[in-house]
Amino acid sequence: MTALPIQNWRYEAGPIRPPSEACSLLVRLTRNCPWGRCRFCISYRGAAFEARSLEDVRSDIDAMAEIARFLLEESWRIGTGGRITHEVLNAAAEAGLPTQYSYQVALFLSAAGQSAFLTDADSLSLPVGDVEAALKHLYSRFPSLRRVTTYARSMTLCKLGAENLRRLREAGLTRVHVGMESGSDAVLKEVRKGVLAKHHIAAGRAAMEAGLELSEYIMPGLGGRERSAEHAGETARVLNAINPQFIRLRTFTPLPGSALEEELAEGGFTPLDEDGVVAEIRAMIAALDGISSQVVSDHDWNLLMEVEGRIPDDKPAMLSLLDAYLSLSSENRQLFRVGRRLGILHFLADLQRPPARRAAEEAAEDLKRRFGDAEAGLRAVAPFRM
Ligand code: SF4
Repeated sequence: MTALPIQNWRYEAGPIRPPSEACSLLVRLTRNCPWGRCRFCISYRGAAFEARSLEDVRSDIDAMAEIARFLLEESWRIGTGGRITHEVLNAAAEAGLPTQYSYQVALFLSAAGQSAFLTDADSLSLPVGDVEAALKHLYSRFPSLRRVTTYARSMTLCKLGAENLRRLREAGLTRVHVGMESGSDAVLKEVRKGVLAKHHIAAGRAAMEAGLELSEYIMPGLGGRERSAEHAGETARVLNAINPQFIRLRTFTPLPGSALEEELAEGGFTPLDEDGVVAEIRAMIAALDGISSQVVSDHDWNLLMEVEGRIPDDKPAMLSLLDAYLSLSSENRQLFRVGRRLGILHFLADLQRPPARRAAEEAAEDLKRRFGDAEAGLRAVAPFRM
């Protein structure tokens, strides 16, 4: 292979990846989302879906491999012994490699070079042979890889079926991240997810049967006040029918510009407040049964980030933590929400630490002074929270 000059080491990374893929190599197979209609989503709004050519994907992978090699060589040259430090990134920038191309590869190397994530929203909608070829090339250029993951829509997994998914597993795909959001058909229809509970179940089972790890994203609060009980119960039912490795919580947030936010502003959607969301999560976790999934709370939109653990062993501890919040006085719940949303408190237990509690109380007083009451202040300074 002829080496390209450093100025030509360019690649497309795609704009979004799960929090758990922060240190993954980002390999863009497609651009945007082939569905693009979910009413809570603004991720690829107005952007047409495009499949990238295999030639372009291979060329990106080659560029990232060149960058990785160069960063490691620079590290040894300047005496950081293979560690990727700011000095290495500065040296790379001085040599003509913009940080936008070196940074993600540096993160990947810093995390032992073991994981890659295929972007954008539904990479497996490409022909299976193309994904296989991209995976093969990726592993050939990065033999240290141990985990390659991607987002996938349930409808796409259904269409592929276990047999095709097994081909992809054998080619080196290890995990799929699926935006289930809800197991309630009414909620799924309301938000135009484009799939029903039966599709989520068939898709999840196909992925598991193919030997892939499955990460299901759940959106507490998505059914609003009206559908909260159904959202919790049906989501647990669908998860129980799949038994995915991971259940990831990402609380619904009415993002500006999304269709649901507009409906909310017009009064057509009654949001759940944060206490309601906590009660809903409690109902869902209480109904998880007969599975061995890991519940993960890895998004800052969740109020109680510490609600994590394996079902069934950690279920009692998760429920008692949720109960601990729900049994607080309304003043203490509000104090926690103020502290948490303003970045003063991180965990419920922080309320018991006098310095942290005092800081939250001062912030609540300040909100009252400026906005009349802390709740109105919270809505003003943390507008995505209800
Ligand atoms: S499938 Fe995912 S990326 Fe596409 S519109 Fe829905 S939530 Fe957004």
